[in-house]
Amino acid sequence: MTSSHYTDTQLFIDGEWCPSLDRSTIEVTNPATGEVIGTVARARHADLERAIVAAQSGFVRWKNTPAFERAAAMRRAASLLRDRLESIARLLTLEQGKPITEARIEVLSAADIIEWFADEGRRVYGRVVPPRTMWAQQLVLKEPVGPVAAFTPWNFPINQIVRKLSAALTTGCSFLVKAPEETPAAPAALIKAFADAGVPAGVLGLVFGDPAEVSSYLITHPAIRKVTFTGSTVVGKQLAALAGQHMKRVTMELGGHAPVIVADDADVDLAARVMCAAKFRNAGQVCISPTRFLVHDSIRDAFANALVSHAQALKVGHGLEEGTQLGPLANERRLQAMRDIVRNARECGATVATGGERVGSTGNFFAATVLTDVPLDADVFNNEPFGPIAAIRGFTNLEDAINEANRLPFGLASYAFTRSVRNVHVLSHRMHAGMLWINQAATAWPELPFGGVRDSGYGSEGGPEALEPYLAVKTVSVSAIE
Ligand code: NAD
Repeated sequence: MTSSHYTDTQLFIDGEWCPSLDRSTIEVTNPATGEVIGTVARARHADLERAIVAAQSGFVRWKNTPAFERAAAMRRAASLLRDRLESIARLLTLEQGKPITEARIEVLSAADIIEWFADEGRRVYGRVVPPRTMWAQQLVLKEPVGPVAAFTPWNFPINQIVRKLSAALTTGCSFLVKAPEETPAAPAALIKAFADAGVPAGVLGLVFGDPAEVSSYLITHPAIRKVTFTGSTVVGKQLAALAGQHMKRVTMELGGHAPVIVADDADVDLAARVMCAAKFRNAGQVCISPTRFLVHDSIRDAFANALVSHAQALKVGHGLEEGTQLGPLANERRLQAMRDIVRNARECGATVATGGERVGSTGNFFAATVLTDVPLDADVFNNEPFGPIAAIRGFTNLEDAINEANRLPFGLASYAFTRSVRNVHVLSHRMHAGMLWINQAATAWPELPFGGVRDSGYGSEGGPEALEPYLAVKTVSVSAIE
């Protein structure tokens, strides 16, 4: 597939694909070549209003559809995604840049997530509470909260939508998403799978536009009852504040700056191999990407050397070439950000053990980079790099490493490598993070809670906890009339 196979993307409103009313569009660029490959429709207020009206009627219809039927439609959508795997993965790589193998995994894991949520929705039980007289019955009912507005980023164009969408649909909410303008075609293919699976008009809506214009319109609209956002902490705080003013429920999945503690008793080869794959997946543009490596002094050089040699072995290239392991960054902003991070680290006294610069002169390619002896005041140890940069510094005792890991206000993912049960216990107890993976890479299975604490946000996007934010509780108390 070449760029000529890329399709322009429209809005999806009330079961129809349509241009915006004023026909305005935004260009989409292939980050591997810099070439404009298509356009996406830009919604204005009038389009958003139509989408909200549709979401309101879609909500009434979907809420009154039995959970078993909702689950069946979701399962059909998952199956269509699997059938369309190759074409969707290719669109994803063309517009986002990630290696085709990663794009395939993203599509397949979306299908897995949808199926898990479909089944979980059939188990949204209420309660019967023992009454204080024998002439009464007390019920606790769970109901869908209402139309949901979602805002999702470009790093996982499909999977950032699919957890939110699946939680909304399985609980009976309608769902209107502002998907990323930089990577619109893969989200459109996801929504199309649901439409083709028989999800009724209005239940799902897809819009694109100016992010601030769309979010301020949707969040403040009285019809929207829940807001969910994935993106940077700065933007998340603005949107949460706006939602708070309008008493909307909120889920925020924001930035992290994941620490990796490699203890003196760690399996160094395992740690370097597993963390290299995790670090450079999606060119490091992952909210749970390992970023701050805290390595015991006794094994620091061995670990750094192993990480460098794994990083140097990665095949950099266009994502559509089979075998590529490191594609371009998704946009030019990230390329400039990587340059700034490396320059600042050098100025602070860090060593660039490998990488540190752009690869080639076209596309947004940046080399897999390992920085060693990084001082604490370097930017990279304080602000999420969101790119292919690993920063290493040493420590002498575990307590210091944990304190350093907890120093920043973020608390999304964290990692540790150790053979000691005692260390595992201490780390599990002390790390300020929503997720801790020990001796392994991240496993973001749908059955596990996924989310952060502190500046990394609130609310979970996995496990049974992921359904609760989409449900309102209603107490019904009945007295028998004699
Ligand atoms: P950005 O902060 O401008 O945008 C991040 C995302 O938020 C984008 O998808 C953007 O469309 C959206 N956004 C921005 N302003 C918005 C608004 N007012 N209303 C609604 N949505 C809005 O930054 P960027 O250059 O696109 O990305 C860089 C930073 O964003 C990274 O450093 C990273 O911290 C963060 N980010 C995080 C994730 C994640 O998975 N948590 C994903 C993408 C980006």
